[in-house]
Amino acid sequence: MTDYVIAQPAVPSVAVAGSSARFPVRRVFCVGRNYAAHAREMGSDPSREPPFFFAKPADAVIPASGTVPYPPATSDLHHEIELVVALGGGGTNIDSADALDLVWGYGVGIDLTRRDLQAAAKDLGRPWDMAKGFDASAPCSPLVPAAALGPLTNNKVWLDVNGARKQEGTLDEMIWSIPEVIAALSRLVTLAPGDLIYTGTPAGVGQLNPGDTVTGGVEGVAEFSLAFGPKPD
Ligand code: MN
Repeated sequence: MTDYVIAQPAVPSVAVAGSSARFPVRRVFCVGRNYAAHAREMGSDPSREPPFFFAKPADAVIPASGTVPYPPATSDLHHEIELVVALGGGGTNIDSADALDLVWGYGVGIDLTRRDLQAAAKDLGRPWDMAKGFDASAPCSPLVPAAALGPLTNNKVWLDVNGARKQEGTLDEMIWSIPEVIAALSRLVTLAPGDLIYTGTPAGVGQLNPGDTVTGGVEGVAEFSLAFGPKPD
């Protein structure tokens, strides 16, 4: 056993639906602007962009349940509801025809975004890390094994804030399909078991406030309900 100079940090993990076993998280990747209507609402042209990616730390993943801490340093926290793909296999230069064989399961999560910090970063040509990769920025439902699901086709994706529908779309509206996302990402990094991919959000992103209750889901995969805690000091 390796002798570490400090206590070994915990392995981040996600619950598995119907099991006490957990899915260990290695890396968290996110796809930007993967639904045309969301690309348009963010001021981009969805027709001319190849997929682009950013990352969150593995320990940004938290359960999408109970009370989620409201993050510091923002006055414009946004929700982005997303299908989450959990990889049980990996590789580089993966062919999109083989990509679904690497998927262990699926969940639904929120790509929480400090939109004010993201806008400032965009203006200054600076990285998005502090806008996207803050603590507890990746709530995720329990994962469902792909083997337990039928093929994902036009499943509805939705998010409500305080009981009011804010985001709604269907998985077939993705500009880049799940296999295409995996294939493209594997040309940039080596993918491996334990990687999560947040696959982009449909239109309707908007502000979250301390105390808000959020419910969301991907039809046929998973649903969640959580509440945000108070504004931090
Ligand atoms: Mn997103």
